Amino acid sequence: MHRPASATVDWKALREDFPILRERVHGRPLIYFDNAATTQKPRPMLEILRQYYEHTNANVHRGLHELSSRATEAYERARQRVADYLGAANAEEIVFTRGTTESINLVAQAWGGKFVRADDVILLTEMEHHSNLVPWQLLAERIGARLRFVPVKDDGTLELERLPALLTPEVKLFGFTHVSNSLGTINPVRELCEKAHAVGALTLVDGAQSAGHMPVDMQELGCDFYAFSGHKMCAPTGIGALYAHAEVLDSIPPWHGGGEMIVSVMLEKSAFKKPPHRFEAGTPKIAGAIGLAAAIDYLENIGRAAIFEHDAELTSYAVERMRELPGMRLFGPRGERGAIVGFVMNAAHPHDLTTFADQQGVALRGGHHCNQPLMRRFGVPGTTRASFYFYNTKEEIDRMIDILGDAVRFFS
Ligand code: PLP
Repeated sequence: MHRPASATVDWKALREDFPILRERVHGRPLIYFDNAATTQKPRPMLEILRQYYEHTNANVHRGLHELSSRATEAYERARQRVADYLGAANAEEIVFTRGTTESINLVAQAWGGKFVRADDVILLTEMEHHSNLVPWQLLAERIGARLRFVPVKDDGTLELERLPALLTPEVKLFGFTHVSNSLGTINPVRELCEKAHAVGALTLVDGAQSAGHMPVDMQELGCDFYAFSGHKMCAPTGIGALYAHAEVLDSIPPWHGGGEMIVSVMLEKSAFKKPPHRFEAGTPKIAGAIGLAAAIDYLENIGRAAIFEHDAELTSYAVERMRELPGMRLFGPRGERGAIVGFVMNAAHPHDLTTFADQQGVALRGGHHCNQPLMRRFGVPGTTRASFYFYNTKEEIDRMIDILGDAVRFFS
């Protein structure tokens, strides 16, 4: 008999690894449903950070002393861990950054600055987070390039029928999110990459909402760039990475200048290291990278396929229960989706609803979720968003439904 991977995990026991889940907010037990913004941090990862600062802390790559060697080894081991996690060919394909936003800015500025010319086209989608829109707008303005967008259908999926008209040979890069942070839509990455490559365009995948939630393998996805943030997958804030295919990375000039990224410096000219160090100027977020590797160990121990199944079960349960509420408008596809449910209720503005839930200890998020064009597309100023992770429970969802029911009575 097929036994789902998630059935073999003791999900409730895992909650014990997250001390913050025992917090009380406004006198009520915390229910944390803002995981798409950032996830909570497990004790084993926090313990590795503490050990690092107590036993290893030193600057990397330039010290000829024991602690510096230990720190450098741990930092480079973390890079290998990320490479393995993403199925990259080797660690040199991983650039540490502050997160998704910085990774995309690196591509737009360094790659885009070299390879995009006036009138070239960057193809994006209407569901992109601002961090996969604004860096391209800045580039387009600077260079005179053009932006095009794949529209989003009413059901929250991309209008792929329009691709043949949009994905023309002028397109130099097709950038799109793996999982929409407002709709939960999971885009068909491999298919989109194949279509982009067929016209000679490179591909950039925004993996902010996928890296910690599902198996992700660069060889299977076939993308040229993949950007993600550690803090959305149990790691500290301020660390993330950019994966880029080795050949592509080799072709890109530096973007930030400073220490660590050079081979030699003369007063008027410098020679630069090979990737990935060429892109990591200054003291990197050493502890963050080590924390990210620890978070990856933690997630791999549970299993990403199991996390995806568990997320899916929680999400479909939430969607089903939310449909029971009067005046409820749900956004996003009906079928398979990420652990994100955006909604609007007739009873109250998303901000009022979110504040009401917060008073009861439930952390939702209300607003445009850095998706202003998408909100405009759906004709709403914003939505309320519940986003789940493996430590959430159906009981917490039941409690949220009760509170949303109370909100309907309170506001009407
Ligand atoms: N892309 C998506 C889809 C996101 O959900 C987010 C964060 O919410 C980002 C990009 C930006 O991530 P960060 O702020 O960690 O750089």
